[in-house]
Amino acid sequence: MSTSAVRTIRHVIGGRETAGESSRTAPVWNPATGEHQADVLLAEPGDVDAAVRAARTALADWADTSLMRRSRLMFAFRNLVEKNLDDLARIVSVEHGKVLDDARGELVRGLEVIDFACGIPQLLKGEYSDQVSSGVDLFSFRQPLGVCAGITPFNFPAMVPLWMHPIAIATGNTFVLKPSERDPSASNLIAELYAEAGLPDGVFNVVHGDKAAVDAILDHPDIAAVSFVGSTPIARYVHERATAGGKRVQALGGAKNHAVVLPDADLDQAADHLVAAGYGSAGQRCMAISVAVAVGAAADPLVELVREKARAIKVGPGLDAGSEMGPVVSPDALARITGYIGSGVAAGADLVVDGREPDVKGDGFFVGPTLFDRVTPEMDVYRDEIFGPVVAVVRVGSLEEAIDLINGNDLANGTAIFTSSGHAARLFQRSVQVGMIGVNVPIPVPMAFYSFGGWKDSLFGAHHIHGPEGVAFYTRAKAVTSRWPDDKPEDAKRGPDLRFPTAV
Ligand code: NAD
Repeated sequence: MSTSAVRTIRHVIGGRETAGESSRTAPVWNPATGEHQADVLLAEPGDVDAAVRAARTALADWADTSLMRRSRLMFAFRNLVEKNLDDLARIVSVEHGKVLDDARGELVRGLEVIDFACGIPQLLKGEYSDQVSSGVDLFSFRQPLGVCAGITPFNFPAMVPLWMHPIAIATGNTFVLKPSERDPSASNLIAELYAEAGLPDGVFNVVHGDKAAVDAILDHPDIAAVSFVGSTPIARYVHERATAGGKRVQALGGAKNHAVVLPDADLDQAADHLVAAGYGSAGQRCMAISVAVAVGAAADPLVELVREKARAIKVGPGLDAGSEMGPVVSPDALARITGYIGSGVAAGADLVVDGREPDVKGDGFFVGPTLFDRVTPEMDVYRDEIFGPVVAVVRVGSLEEAIDLINGNDLANGTAIFTSSGHAARLFQRSVQVGMIGVNVPIPVPMAFYSFGGWKDSLFGAHHIHGPEGVAFYTRAKAVTSRWPDDKPEDAKRGPDLRFPTAV
């Protein structure tokens, strides 16, 4: 791994790239080669404060900008993201490691949130009730919160921030983004595209950093709301600390997504889906399937099919056209994942496909598709979020047992069932305590005009992200009760009435 002079990735504050007060840096790897390709600055509290000041300065004018102008700006931004989609996907692939087509997919799903935000005049329509009492009307409308912040994970460096800032900005807020320090560059290009679209300086700011930057955001008195996406321990911490500081918080955490396969399913198709959802992006998706729950007679043929298909996956650098699965993000991630494979073997699970020595040249952070069979719920490979290309098969006797297993897990982001029985699917969708459910669909990520969120330890806070709940999260309602008395003598004559007002 080379450590020769590399470029430095800086913050974007008030429309300008700056190093601010930062002197600490973190390495940004090229996971496909192991190369140390850049350093990213790590913000000090003063840098976060500078970004918040820029966002506060921009706030009054931006919040007052008409809905149609905000909407037109979102359309312009949308078109620029689409035009630069290949560049963005390349940046994502080179810093994250995922294959180019997968990176394009993440951009397309992010673009859909901007599409949704373009409709902000429709989304912010209020309610109006004429004549709720004699001569009295009642109406409500929503206003922005102020300066909002987003703290995002490495695994979707473009899409997850796009779940947040287009809606926050379209609803009239200004924004400070703290992206993952592992793949920070996409956010700087997004800032350029906002500027090119005509967004005033300071409405969107990017502060790179680690815990110090996050803590400065959580404690900053001028930040009104925090959106977080990342692992469960940090999500819990962010929720507790920012809520204690009086902020509105949505904190999305980790996942251990189960897919139940019933014997009546099309097993070949189910195996295709399990392999795609388990090993796509090297398992580094919050909606990855990491547990296959094989019911009864489904187990033997399913394991055989997944084994064959997993072994056929082409592992290689994300930019190579032939690669289907890239490396994992960092040397630490590689060590963690191979450690878990060792722990599964030691605990007695059957290692059906071992990805520890994939056939890829060079110093990249590669681990191949891995499949465990006969995993039991007390094993670490079942309990922990491995966040790598490792699928664990748990064998159960019935659908009810499968549902109990899922409901016994504290992580409840997504789940899926594969079956040809409508009755079984309906029982499943009504009984599982999980936020997002797929029926013969392995990665049930709701479209941008719905909201995304898990239950239990996969989401802290009352609001799911993007879609209608995103609009609700970034705004607060006002209800106005109004009377315009005329100058009739009986109106003028009426004296004070101390009873609690009721409609007449
Ligand atoms: P992470 O929790 O390590 O980091 C997320 C963010 O928190 C980053 O910006 C990071 O800089 C910051 N952070 C890390 N440690 C911190 C600390 N001690 N104090 C304060 N801030 C800290 O997560 P990650 O490894 O970047 O991403 C993978 C995780 O994100 C997985 O658990 C995955 O399931 C989860 N995820 C969840 C969703 C969802 O929608 N629920 C979506 C994507 C990813």
